[in-house]
Amino acid sequence: MSYGVRKDFYNSKAWKQVRKNVWLKQNLLCNRCGKPVYVDGISKWIPKEKRRTGIVHHKIYLDNINVYDDSIALDEGNLEGICKDCHEEEHHKDQVTRSGLMFNENGELIKKN
Ligand SMILES: [Zn+2]
Ligand SMILES: [Zn+2]
Repeated sequence: MSYGVRKDFYNSKAWKQVRKNVWLKQNLLCNRCGKPVYVDGISKWIPKEKRRTGIVHHKIYLDNINVYDDSIALDEGNLEGICKDCHEEEHHKDQVTRSGLMFNENGELIKKN
């Protein structure tokens, strides 16, 4: 996953701690679809095929500039724990709208009108 953000941020102690707080607060449930997610270091072991990856999303998208701003990069108010599916939807929604496409009710990409 690359949003042009320096990698060491995601490896920082501060980020790992905040990420953990977000998941504990949400009881390891996706904030959008409510499904349980698997988070390394917090979840009890479950079989790989049953794991739904959890991602902590930045509501204000992180970039190379605001990654240095703790009130955006590390503030729980700007963070949302969501599953991989909901996360992809969130980010694609953005690209999709820009390219004049939309999702139909089956989740397939179609041209607007
Ligand atoms: Zn979800
Ligand atoms: Zn995100």
